[in-house]
This record gives sequence, structure tokens and C-alpha cells, in this order.
Amino acid sequence: MNRLKQQLSRIDGKGYKAYKDIQGVYHFPGFQLFIDYVQGDPFASPSRIRIRMEQEKAGYPVVWYKQQHRRTALEDWITRMWFEQTNRFSFKVKGTGKSGLIRVDQPGQEILRRTSAVVTEKYVEVRLTVGLPARGRSVLGNKAEEMLCQFIPQMVRDTLPYAKLEPEKVEERMRLVDNQQEIRARLQEEGWVAFIADGSVLPRESGISDRPLSAGKVVSFQAPDSLKKTISVPHGKPISGMVIQKGITLIVGGGYHGKSTLLQAMERGVYDHVEGDGREYVITVEDAVKVRAEDGRRVEKVNISPFINNLPFGRDTFRFSTEDASGSTSQATNIMESLEAGSRCLLIDEDTSATNFMIRDGRMQKLVSKGKEPITPFIDKVRQLYQEKEISSVLVLGGSGDYFDVADTVIMMDEYQPRDVTAEAKEIAQVRKNERIREGGEGFGDITPRYPLAKGLIPRKGNKEKADAKGRTVIVFGTSTIDLSGVEQLVHPSQTQAIADMMRKLGKKANGGKSLHDLIEELYREIDEKGLDVISLFYGQHPGDLALPRKLELAAALNRLRTLTIK
Ligand code: ADP
Ligand code: MG
Repeated sequence: MNRLKQQLSRIDGKGYKAYKDIQGVYHFPGFQLFIDYVQGDPFASPSRIRIRMEQEKAGYPVVWYKQQHRRTALEDWITRMWFEQTNRFSFKVKGTGKSGLIRVDQPGQEILRRTSAVVTEKYVEVRLTVGLPARGRSVLGNKAEEMLCQFIPQMVRDTLPYAKLEPEKVEERMRLVDNQQEIRARLQEEGWVAFIADGSVLPRESGISDRPLSAGKVVSFQAPDSLKKTISVPHGKPISGMVIQKGITLIVGGGYHGKSTLLQAMERGVYDHVEGDGREYVITVEDAVKVRAEDGRRVEKVNISPFINNLPFGRDTFRFSTEDASGSTSQATNIMESLEAGSRCLLIDEDTSATNFMIRDGRMQKLVSKGKEPITPFIDKVRQLYQEKEISSVLVLGGSGDYFDVADTVIMMDEYQPRDVTAEAKEIAQVRKNERIREGGEGFGDITPRYPLAKGLIPRKGNKEKADAKGRTVIVFGTSTIDLSGVEQLVHPSQTQAIADMMRKLGKKANGGKSLHDLIEELYREIDEKGLDVISLFYGQHPGDLALPRKLELAAALNRLRTLTIK
């Protein structure tokens, strides 16, 4: 620490570049400070530092981090505590540009694997970004000393040792994530697609806030008796709630009665949520994918022939490519790509679907013959998908009762409460026979693996490589921009940044010999072995603010890259 202080006073008043000299490792009382990267000027992206405390000092019980799900929850907890700490100290020191900034990645409502904090049996580490202070472009050595040698040690003392972590609350969180883990395991064993606990609060505060709608206005979730199951969990009383079985489930009901809200909660249920979120025990199988129409997207050699055939001008739908997909072809593509990436459950909302993809009614079949309609609607494919490939579907559909014929379960949302109306729906389907002709053909068709080439997967820009997230929904990859606004289960910008880094890494492995699916599997195995840090260019140092996306969102980003080239 004294060495750092000396260096800072030596460079005080010099040009900003002199800060480069402080890169290195310093021993502080009780912890180590790593200065991994020093920014080039006060406006550039901030400097990166790490704080490491040995477990002997930190004293975390091994049961907090031995299992992956608990370790992730603990690291997330530490990140949140540090976020509050950094808010107290950030910009207390003032100066030009980012001078005085101290920050750590800020998690949202989901508990994700992150690089912002790391707990091992040897140490605990927190990764921060700081703006080294300057006036104009000259070093403010004293101010830097205040930040690094006073604020940081104080934050470490106040936050990092066992007793400062609020151990009772950590224990409570451990119980929460154990229970979530148990429910996930039960879904797998029982072959359920989702579980929504009684008492859950599904609606969010607003269209731009992911926090729960405040009590009072909320109708909390109550399972109908016929769909209710009770799950014993490791901690506390057994938890009751509604189970969505494998197969085909319809969510029907009047407009504004909470259909989409229920589906959205299920979409997010692929992740674990923090205490107080309202969706703590809304758990969905991890590979469930929301698919929607996304016209305008690019498509590269996807086999959409199960849904689309005989396009005008004889365009190939076994290897369908376009720079500008229509509503229906984009939705077909989104489904086929999700299946290729390994999803076993599709979540579809009428609000974001192409009508002609979802349904073609009896009258329309009479007017427009099958030979003149390239689209085989989802209604004629959804059962084949389940019977032949064991892929389930959950569909929000207030507008078409034709689906009663193909559904296993029909849930009606009625003033935000679910009712089991399966029997009624089946009866109506019996009495009011519909005039449709089934158009699905012999079988579902093939899910065709694709083999990416390195070409187009190298993010070259001039003589540099550039792969960066711009917020949650945009990646700048070389000279092209990827629009992820249609990828609704991407929940945090740090996931998006991780995807950018992962894509750069995949570009080095793609050679036309490995399928997209296998490339992704291989990368995730490496992450499991070496940790999420491994995807970063700064592996071994501060790897940046990254959060693990699902394989499905990584695939989604690759598939939307306009330069992607499939063999
Ligand atoms: P639908 O898809 O059936 O038309 P939505 O799910 O979009 O309806 O919900 C309509 C509105 O009702 C939204 O503003 C939503 O936040 C609110 N809402 C949904 N579920 C609940 C609930 N359980 N309690 C209170 N408000 C809710
Ligand atoms: Mg809706």
C-alpha cells in the first residue's frame, strides 16, 4: 500500500498517461489490490481493479459455496452489497470526465452467474471499475490515494468479512435457492414444464420496470384445484402451486385478464429470482424458449420446411435464407432455430405472433387452396412436435378456439385467476365441430443441424477486433450490428456482453466441421471447467462485467448476425 501511495505522489500533476505506472498488485492490510487495467484518459472506459481477500480472513462457511447454485447466489449477494457500497463512495472524489467513479455490476431481479464477484475455497474476489481522478488531463495523485487507499479499504472492511455480509440473510437466501433448485429437479423428474406457486405476484410495476407491481392492486396467484400440486422442499413448508404438464397447454381468457403476464412470468422462470420479487417460486424448465414473429430479421440457411413450402419463385425452404424475413417466415425460423439449439418447450403469445402462422380457418382453406398457401399453420404441427419429438408448447390464445382440438390442457385467466376449463373446451370442440382440414402432412419434418464457417464470425473492424454490447438488445460485432430486441429472455446487459465475447471466441473455433449446437456445447463445458472468466479477452485479470446467458440466447444472437455464414 505504501508503494502505491509513493507512486501516486510521484506522478501527481503529471500527464494522465503516467497512471499507467500503477498497474500491478499491492498488499493492503487484510487484502490484495490488483490494478489490472488503467484507462488512457479521464473520459475513456474506466480502469479495472480487483480486491482479493483470503478465505482465512473472509471466513465464509464452505457450505455457502461448495455447490454451484449456492455459490452463484453468494456471488450475486456480494455483488449487490458492493453495489450499495459503491453508491456511497462513487464520485465523492471529483474531477474531469469519469474521475471518482467507483462501480460494480448491478444485478436485476434474476440471480445469474456473474464475473463481478468470485468465491473459491482460497479467496473471495470483487471486481470493480474506477475512474482514476484527473483535473483536465493531469493526474490528481492525492485524490487517487483517497479513492484507492481510503475508500476501498473501508468498503472492504464494511462489506467483505463474514460478519459484515449479514450472515442470517445469506442463510435465508441459501434456503431460497435450495428450494428453487429442488423445484427445478422435480420438474425434470415429473416431466412438468412449469410450476407457479400459490401466492406468487406475477405482474410487474410497469413496462419499463421489472420490479413487482405493488401490493393492493395485485391479485396473487392461486392454482385451480385440478392443476394443483404440492412440492416438499428442503427448507420450510411444502409449496403448493399450479403445474403445467408436458404436452400442449392453452392459456385463454378475455383481453386484459392476465394471459400475457402469466406467460411472461413463465419465460423468466428459466432463471431464479431474488427474495421479494414475487416470482421466487415460478419455475420453468431451463430450456423453454419464447418464440415470436420478428419480421425484418436475417435468416441463414435454416430448414423451415416443416412450416413453409412452395414459396413464390421456387425459393428453397430446406435451406432458407433471407435478409428480410416476413412475420410468418421469421416465426417459423425462430422455432426451428430454437429446436436446433436444443429447446424442448416453446412459449408463444398471440400478441407477438403472425396470425397466418398460428391459424388458417376452414373458410380460408376453402377460398385459398393448400397449393396456394406456403404456410402450414402451427395448429397442424403442434401435436406432431409433441408426439414425435417430445417438444411441448404453451400458447396464449384468446382469439382462436380451433386450438381446443389439439390442446391437452386449457387454462382460462379470469380476472387474473387461472381456471381449469379443459373439460368445457373439449366439450365445445365436440359439439361445434370445426370445418378445418388438417394440413400437417405425415410427420413434423426434420430439424437440420447447421455448420458455421469462421468467415463472418470474425469481428473485424479495420485492423482491430470489436465485439461489444450496447445495452441489453444490441451487439456491435465487427462492422455489423445485431438486433436482439426480439430475444425476450435475454434479461441483463451483462449477458449481452458475455454473448459478444462468446461469439468472438466461437469465431476462432468455427471451421464448418462442427455444428452450431456442438460449438455452443463445447464452449459451455469450458465455462463449467474454468469459470465464466474464460470467455473474456482479459482472462486471468478483471474479466469485465459479464453474466452467463443461456445457450439458447447465445444461439439466438449468432443466428441474427448478418454476416453469419453456414456451410
Ligand atoms: P392479456 O394478455 O390477457 O390481455 P395482460 O397479461 O397483458 O393481459 O395483463 C393486462 C394488465 O393487467 C397488465 O397491465 C398487467 O400488469 C395487469 N395484471 C396482470 N396480472 C395481474 C394480477 N395478477 N394482478 C393485478 N394486475 C395484473
Ligand atoms: Mg396479452
